[in-house]
Parts: sequence; C-alpha cells; structure tokens
Amino acid sequence: MIYAADGLEINYLSQEEIKNWQPYTEIPAESQASEPFIQRLKDVGLWTPSQIAGRRWSMGCVSLEITQRCNLDCTLCYLSEHSEAVRDVPLQEIFRRIDMIAAHYGKNTDVQVSGGDPTLRQREELVQIVQRITDKGLRASLFTNGILASRALLVDLCAVGLVDVAFHVDTTQQRKGYESEQDLNTLREKYIECARGLPLAVFFNTTVHDANFHEVPSLVRFFRQHTDVVSLLSFQLQADTGRGVLRNRDQRITPDTMIERIQSGADQSIGFDTLTVGHPSCNRYAMALSINGKLYDCYDDPEFFVPLLEATAHVSFPRTDRRATIMAALRAFFKAPHLWGKGALWLARKIWSAKADLWAARGKVNKLTFMIHNFMDACHLEHDRLHACIFMVATPDGPISMCLHNAKRDEYILKPIAINGPEGKHLWHPLSGAKMPLVAANEHPIDPKIYPIKFLKGRTRVEALLNRSSPSPVQQPNAALISVEDTVQ
Ligand code: SF4
Repeated sequence: MIYAADGLEINYLSQEEIKNWQPYTEIPAESQASEPFIQRLKDVGLWTPSQIAGRRWSMGCVSLEITQRCNLDCTLCYLSEHSEAVRDVPLQEIFRRIDMIAAHYGKNTDVQVSGGDPTLRQREELVQIVQRITDKGLRASLFTNGILASRALLVDLCAVGLVDVAFHVDTTQQRKGYESEQDLNTLREKYIECARGLPLAVFFNTTVHDANFHEVPSLVRFFRQHTDVVSLLSFQLQADTGRGVLRNRDQRITPDTMIERIQSGADQSIGFDTLTVGHPSCNRYAMALSINGKLYDCYDDPEFFVPLLEATAHVSFPRTDRRATIMAALRAFFKAPHLWGKGALWLARKIWSAKADLWAARGKVNKLTFMIHNFMDACHLEHDRLHACIFMVATPDGPISMCLHNAKRDEYILKPIAINGPEGKHLWHPLSGAKMPLVAANEHPIDPKIYPIKFLKGRTRVEALLNRSSPSPVQQPNAALISVEDTVQ
C-alpha cells in the first residue's frame, strides 16, 4: 500500500504481507553469524562504513518474553488484549528459545529478558533463565518496570551473570502519585540506589509521548547527575501498536526533534550522525562523556570514529567491568597505528575543552549513551526497516522483528506450543496450561474464553468497564474472541 506522509510516498506492508512475513529459520554457520544480517543491510543500502550493526554484533538484541503478564497498565502498552490471560511459557520452551538465539546470533548477543514484566515470573525460574543465557555465552539484560526488582533479586541475578538492568519508568505507566516525569525522578533515584555498586550496567527506558515530550530536556539534566550509575538512556517514541489506550503520535515527535530536546538537556551538541545502528529511521545513537555533571560529545570526529569502528569491530567490551573495557579499547587502538594520530588529536581536544571539569572531578569520567528508538505503528510497517531490523523477538518458530511481532503478537502467544518433555512430546495450551496430544496445532484451535475483567488491560479494559455500566450489548474490538461472562482459569 502506498500512503502519502509529509509529501513522501511510503510503501507500507499490506495485511497479507504482514501475515506472510515469517520468522527467520535458517541457522548460519557459527563463524558466520553476522552474514545474513549483513546481507539484509546490503539489500537496503545500509551496509556503510559507519554501520555498527553486523560489525560489532550479529544482532542488536533479542527480546525473550518470559511472561505476558504485567503489574502495570501502560497507556502505550505493546502487549495484546489476550496477554494477561496467557500462561507463562514452560521453562523448557524458554530454554529452547535461548538455545535458538545462540544458534542464530552467536556469543555475546544481548538477550532482553522481558515480558510483560519478567519479575512476575517465579523467582527461581527467572534465575534459571538468566543462568541459561549466561551458560550459552549470551548477555542477559533484565527489562523491568522496577516494582519487583529488589536489590536481593538483582544480587541473585548478578550471581548467575546478569549484565544489564533496564528500568522502564515514565508517565505512560500511570503510577499513582506521579503526575509528571519530574515527579517520577524520586522513583528513578530509588531504582538507581537499588542497583548502585552491583556489577551491572544500568539503563533507563522512557516512552516519549505527547504529554512528556516537553520534559525530555529536564530528564536528560536529571540523568547527567547520575552517570556514576546510569550508562544508557533509551527513548522510545510513541507507536500505535498493542493494547494501550493512546494511539497516534503527535507529528512534532520525530527522531530529529528528539535529538534537539536531548541536546537542549545536554547543553551541548551531541553527534547522532557519526555512527549508524541498523536503519536510521528506526534508531539514532550517540554517546557523551560525563565529567563533573556536564556532557561532552564523544563521537564528534567521524574521520576518527568510523575507521575506529572497523578496527575494533570484533572486540568485545565487557560492559560490567569498566577497567576491562578501557583495556580492551586501548589494546584494539594500539593495534591500529593508522589511527594513532587522529586519536591523539581527538583526545587532546577533549582534554582541553573539558579541562576545568576534569580538574574539578579529579579526572573521573563516566559515559552516557543515548538511543532513540522509533517503533512503527502496527498498520504502518515499512519493508526496508523490518528487513534491517536490529531488534528481534524470539518466537516459537524463530526470531522476528519486534515491530512485526507487535503487529501480530496473538499469532505467537495464542498458539499451542510443542514441548518435548521427560514424559514425551505434547502440545502445551497457552490459555489453560493444559497438555494435549501432539497433533497438528490447527486441530486444537485457540478458542479464547470469555475473560474476566482482571485479565483485561488497555483499550479492552476501558471499553469493558464502560459497557458494564451500559445496558447495550458488549461491543469490543475483539468481541468475537472476548466476552465477560466466563473465566479462563
Ligand atoms: S523493532 Fe521496529 S523500529 Fe525497531 S529496529 Fe526493528 S523494525 Fe526498526
């Protein structure tokens, strides 16, 4: 389909094309894990010298949804109307998906342990999941709203190799008593203290929408004071996908206007154009050095950083060990004598421009990475962006782009799953948790029962509540699948 937006013609996928786009099933040879992705980047003209994807890693990250349940009800939730009724996928299947991620993308791939909120999974199982990710040579990140992410839990997860924790905190979550992003800073401080001193990289995620866009600069100013703990800020722009009640984004919110807001909060020009991550319409990436509460743009010299990327493409930086990361960077740098001159010049300029702050901070330098992630609306999916997608979800059938997964989530979460357990092979039913004989899945069609209100979130919940007080029959988007009399146990 072709739509005209801002004078541009864009080919959006039709419903048929969305239906037909399947997860990746072909497993590359171990030494060539990046090749399929590099080929896809070439297909869409994005395999350039500044492209990090395919060089530093064979996939940006893979989301492993270990539960569909959540303890919040965000106004921009990407989950489905059915999510809350779906049982947690058996551990065995989660382990199989972890192995599948390792087979597709190889060691050091970042695996986002997510959901729903992953902390709602039984604690013992969550620990085992992180352990399995570590054992496979992958890097586990916990993506959580923080409500149940206690210090004790983080300590347990660190002991089995957790690498990052990403706290999602923003006004879409409708947390009681917090009206603005400014109000939420007290909660952010609490989470920062919860993670302080642990061998973890600490990230914060913020969904940017009409009502908090103006607060982005003050949010950046807040995090400038916390770079001793927080090393990455990810801003995810409002997208019309999932069950959330908010839909279309204000036209003012674009990756470019986000950059302006971030720069305003940084009181600095920050270079988002030096290095590319996947498709520039999807991702914008920059890094700043943080010295004495001030930010200094890091990637301000493409002549140095683009060839440096190539020279360090296969170096692994252990995010949880600052000293090891610096040593790995220095070793790679010393192996690239053609860059010594440019590197020395860049360093001299940085030291000169930051001399007063370096003095005040006694030489202490932190870093703050910025990611802007521009998810697509479920009905506005672009082929090239999906083709160059750096953000996969592990489905039962293989990895698939997160945007595509969000557009047809029910296809994956409601499908019975074949389990090969100690008691033999069987099908596991996601709504009942029942084991069924292993026959073709379509002989066990999903027939979602009528959900009680406790299983409803987002738009469907709002509509069900409205309809309860109305004498007219229930009219919901999924009326064919959901009614409110029966329960799913
Ligand atoms: S998840 Fe969507 S927005 Fe993100 S990289 Fe993939 S296609 Fe682009």
